[in-house]
Amino acid sequence: MSVLVYVEQAEGKFKKSVFEAVSYAKAIADQQSTNLTAISIGDVAESELKELGKYGASKILNVSVDQLKTFVNQAYASVIAAAAEKEGADIVVLSNSFSGKGLAPRIAVKLKAGLADGAVELPGTDGKFAVKKTAFSGKAFAITELTSANKVIALNPNAFGVKENATDAVIENFAADIKPSDLGTVIKDIVRATDKVSLPDAELVVSAGRGLKGPENWGMIEELADLLGAATACSKPVSDADWRPHSEHVGQTGIAISPNLYIAIGISGAIQHLAGVSSSKVIVVINKDPEAPFFKVADYGIVGDAFEVVPKLIEALKAHKG
Ligand code: FAD
Repeated sequence: MSVLVYVEQAEGKFKKSVFEAVSYAKAIADQQSTNLTAISIGDVAESELKELGKYGASKILNVSVDQLKTFVNQAYASVIAAAAEKEGADIVVLSNSFSGKGLAPRIAVKLKAGLADGAVELPGTDGKFAVKKTAFSGKAFAITELTSANKVIALNPNAFGVKENATDAVIENFAADIKPSDLGTVIKDIVRATDKVSLPDAELVVSAGRGLKGPENWGMIEELADLLGAATACSKPVSDADWRPHSEHVGQTGIAISPNLYIAIGISGAIQHLAGVSSSKVIVVINKDPEAPFFKVADYGIVGDAFEVVPKLIEALKAHKG
């Protein structure tokens, strides 16, 4: 028995959500009094792989083959499931990221495992292996008991935090057996559409809604986001009206995010919007209507006109930065 964690890389680097998944997997391994093995797929330097030891991985399986240099859902799932079988790992952990959402159910099918996707806490220790996870687009939590021998858990980013747990990690090459049927869809190249911070991974997000009146007023939102090093997001009507690209639409029918800071400007806080943002660590709402529903879930609220408040925030940040 052991725990295997899949560590997703982007351009050869691990993101914070990966270290968080390793920290979470290590805590499960400790609960089960067993070891933690990590599996990395793609081109990652040894020094970067060694970083995983800081968070508790004692063995790191490295899969570096040409066919798997870019993400291939089916093939990655096969390799991770094969590694779990070879290592005798009955628990597989991964981040509930964009690719994790595609991988987790595939790995679960291959291992005939129970699946808890969107986990937000460690499994219970009363022998039931019950995992708290988000349900109904974040509007509720479900306690899911994984009764099967094998288990797959996809951890929501920012739900557990990164915890250092220095361990001497050994790196081993893992020989992946890739079947042609696993390579039905292959990414040949990735072309960056923007140099801006990517929304699903962003720690800070500045988001705006219909209260901004029109696309011509997004300059101040971009400026505020740039000053903070934040990604920009928007409500659904804003992207429906083509004021902003659909890739920025957050909510039930858009991207679900859980940054450390979410600043909502001129957004009413409809339930469908909250479904995608309510698990943010700190929510700041700027709205001129004191009755706007968003204030009910806000950690900090500013009742005021965005066209007065945002320029003042920009001014203050510029002064602070000198
Ligand atoms: P509004 O509701 O028009 O709110 C604008 C807000 O701006 C108001 O609170 C107003 O007080 C404030 N305001 C106006 N002027 C100013 C100013 N000068 N300064 C400060 N504040 C100001 N919505 C999503 O966002 N994401 C989704 O994924 C999503 N999915 C949906 C799925 C379904 C099936 C349905 C039915 C709806 C969905 N919606 C979604 C739409 C959702 O119900 C709301 O209509 C939408 O979120 C409202 O967007 P908004 O807050 O930008 O606009």
